[in-house]
Formats: sequence, C-alpha cells, structure tokens
Amino acid sequence: MVTTEEIRRNLEAVRENLSSAAAASGRKPNEIALMGVSKFQPAESILAAFECGLRLFGENRVQERESKSAFLGGIQAEWHMIGTLQKNKARRALALFDCIQSVGGIELAVALERIIGENPEETTFALPYPIMVEVNVSAEDTKQGVAPEKCFALIDNIAVKCPHIKIYGLMTIGPLSEDEKKIRDSFRTLRNLWEGAKKRFDFPMRHLSMGMSGDYAIAVSEGSTIVRIGTAIFGARNR
Ligand SMILES: *Cc1c(COP(=O)(O)O)cnc(C)c1O
Repeated sequence: MVTTEEIRRNLEAVRENLSSAAAASGRKPNEIALMGVSKFQPAESILAAFECGLRLFGENRVQERESKSAFLGGIQAEWHMIGTLQKNKARRALALFDCIQSVGGIELAVALERIIGENPEETTFALPYPIMVEVNVSAEDTKQGVAPEKCFALIDNIAVKCPHIKIYGLMTIGPLSEDEKKIRDSFRTLRNLWEGAKKRFDFPMRHLSMGMSGDYAIAVSEGSTIVRIGTAIFGARNR
C-alpha cells in the first residue's frame, strides 16, 4: 500500500500537471474537477487522499463501494459510479453514489427512473438524480456506452421517459492506444458532441468527463471538465 506521504506527492504532481495543461490551452485550473478513481485501492488510501483535500471519488463496482462504506462512514465526499452498472444493482447504486456517469443505454436509465419514481419524496439523494451519458467514441468492443451517432437520440429518450433524472454531461474512456492523435481525435469527438448537445437540449450539460492517468493532459486541452485519475494518485491497483 502506498503511504499518505506518497499520495500527497502524487496529488501535488497531478494538480501541477493539470494547472499547466489548463494554462497551455488558456483555461483556468478551477474549471477542471479532479476525481480520484479508487477502484481496487484500499479504503485507507481513500482516507489518505481525503486528508490531502480530495473530495471527489469514483468507483466502478457497487459491491466494492459498499464494502468500503463502513470504513469511510464519516467522510463528506462526492462519489460517482463510473463502471458498468447492471440493472439489478441500480437500487444499491442509487444509495451509494451521488452521480452515475456510466449510463450508456435507455434500459438502465429507465430502471433508475422506476426506482426513484417509487418514492421520490423520501429519497436520500438530490433530485432530479444526476447522471452522465457514456459514449463509446473509440467503438472498442470491450467498452460500454452509446455510439456517438446515437447519443442525441438517447439523451432525447432519457429526457422524455425519465423526469426524475437529469443529464449533467457526457463521459468517455479514451482509446487504448499510444497514438496521441488517435486519443486527441477521440476526445475532440466527445467535445463536439457535447457542444452540439448543449445547443440542442435546453438543460445545462455542465460536464465533459474525460481523461485518465495516461491521457489527462490531452483531455484537458480538448476541454475536459472532470478528469478521472486512478494510478497517478493511488499507485498500481491491487487486483
Ligand atoms: C479505472 C478507470 C479510470 C482511472 O484509470 P487510471 O488509468 O488508473 O487513471 C478512469 N475512468 C474509468 C471509467 C475507469 O474505469
């Protein structure tokens, strides 16, 4: 396990890189939220990052988030679900996460809507419940998410069928590639979709969630507003 001191240094380095990437493209660092992706990391590391000022965390499995809850009980942080979510775990996810970034189809959105709609007055989370639409820009088979050309139709569909849900933005995972141009093109495609969606829909699509440890500088230069960083903060994952 990495020490709190290492996490502090890692966080400083990431924040510095974020600042320079922002400055290089004429953006302010405070336009970009830093998420610590704590999947496969011990709860102690999350606590250490919290002590170093990190307030936004991402996990990709309901079970794992749940198992860390007891240890993390008291901390006031924001949690986003960023992994594939099965419909049968939607209820647990709603209880654990402040936002689900990984909505890639209407079925999951409708399942969430149905659960929230059962008893909207007594929910413990904010309503309308915040989600993001995950887009599979690079069209890799291993990735979930809606195809770019079907993204607006999905947003339309969610807006019509899911009044208790609010779409706050778009999310993607960059291509599995070393080719900087390919990565940049992929982020640019999402950015263009996001700009298009902001014009087309009359609700605020605040966020563009893209960029991980290996490609966040590129993502920031292409307009990212949330970077999701695991390894560069917490070290290698213990699978
Ligand atoms: C694991 C993961 C990350 C973080 O990956 P790193 O390369 O460790 O920074 C970001 N987003 C999603 C959706 C992930 O699953």
